[in-house]
This record gives sequence, C-alpha cells and structure tokens, in this order.
Amino acid sequence: MAWTLIEHVRQGDIQRVEFEAGFGSSPGCVFPPIQVEAAGKQGTIEGKIDRVDILKKDRAKIIDYKSGSEKFDLTEVEKGYRLQLMIYLKAVQEALDPREPGAGVFYFHIDEPLLDASEVADGQLLEALEKERVRQYRLDGMLLDDEEVIRSVAGDFTDYSGICSIRATKEGIKGTGPGRLLSEEEFRKVREKVDELLKNLWGDMISGRAPASPMKSGQSTTCDYCSFKTVCGFDTAFEGCRYRVVR
Ligand code: SF4
Repeated sequence: MAWTLIEHVRQGDIQRVEFEAGFGSSPGCVFPPIQVEAAGKQGTIEGKIDRVDILKKDRAKIIDYKSGSEKFDLTEVEKGYRLQLMIYLKAVQEALDPREPGAGVFYFHIDEPLLDASEVADGQLLEALEKERVRQYRLDGMLLDDEEVIRSVAGDFTDYSGICSIRATKEGIKGTGPGRLLSEEEFRKVREKVDELLKNLWGDMISGRAPASPMKSGQSTTCDYCSFKTVCGFDTAFEGCRYRVVR
C-alpha cells in the first residue's frame, strides 16, 4: 500500500501534501473552520482530513483513507448522504482560493488486495497480482474535468488510469462511470448543493428541529457507527421509525 501511495504522488504533479490536516480554530489546525449561517446565526464546522494534496492554481484534492466496502456515490452526496468528502473540500478550497472549484474528492481503500490464485492461469500470477493491486488502490471518487487537473492527479496514461476512475479514449478522457469526471459546471453545482444542505441542516439545528430521521442507502445507514444509538429512540420496530431511503 505504501508503495502505491508513493507511486500516485510520483505520477501526478502535487505542489504540497498535508496529512491529518485539521480545519478549525484549535491551535495546530492547518485550515480555518467552515462558517455556516442561517436565520442570521453563525455556526462553525471543524474536523480533520486524512490527506490534502494541493495542486497548481491552489486546487485541492481530498483523500480519505477507508477500510471496508464504502464507495463514493455522487447520487448519495446530492441527496445529503455521506457529505464528509465534500465538507472537507469546502474547508480546504475556501481557505486556498474560494474562486476555484477544487480538483477532486476520493476515498483510498486501504484493505490489502486479495486474489484467488486457483482462478489464475499458469504463469500469470504476478501479472494478475499487479492488476489486482492497481484495481484495489485506484482512487475512488470524482475528479474535475480539466486538462491540468487530470495530468496533476493521474499523470500520463493510456487506456485506463491506474490512479483514478478515468480512461483515455479517441474522443478524449472519460470517466469510467457516472459521477467520476465532472465538468466545472457540474462540479460547482455539487458544491452548491452541499452548501445548501449544510445551511438547511444548520437552520434546522438552531430552530430546534432535530428529529431522529436517519438515511439509508443500500445496506448502509447513518446509524451504523452512531454513538447515540442507545439513547436516540430510533428503532424500526417502533411505529413511525422509518429510514429516509436514498436508493
Ligand atoms: S442512531 Fe439515532 S441519533 Fe444516531 S443516526 Fe441513527 S437515528 Fe440518528
């Protein structure tokens, strides 16, 4: 894994890297807190980001190290589920240069790659292992469709990038799936949507509206790792306790 991380940095063009970068008002924070405002009342959001890569033009690329099966899903973000990466991007990009949209947000899955050797043809094991390593450690997220950003993140590649979910085609660089490579307009729209969601959440908090109204996407729910599970009173066995289903 460590070798892959070095390889990613070498292939791209990163101006500065910050690890465990705090945003907030405590001493040692690298970036200021996020300010939110609703009904004339100010609030702040603070946190810590696993890794921030700063590219040319002060564009931020956010990386969150993850174990398990959590995948980046733009539809979830737009519906207000798993906002973590976009909140991190907001904190960093607004501090670096708020006029820039940012470069991208990604999960880096840290689980070791696993391969069933019995399914690999004779003499192909090393090649298959290498393929699996690249697949497992490919950054999982969304990238700004900008020539300089693509080069800074993915370097030079033919066919599929080994660094993030894009590929080179005769028509140019494409995302390998929906929500992987976003035009600047699309990217800014996602950021605006997240700003709106944060403002609404803050507005609800200050007006005392904080119902136990968790979300569910596939098999994952906002309650999965919540510390308040034993006291909040939400239980699907009770009438009226239903998840807001994202997908
Ligand atoms: S366990 Fe309760 S407080 Fe935590 S996310 Fe679920 S509903 Fe909300």
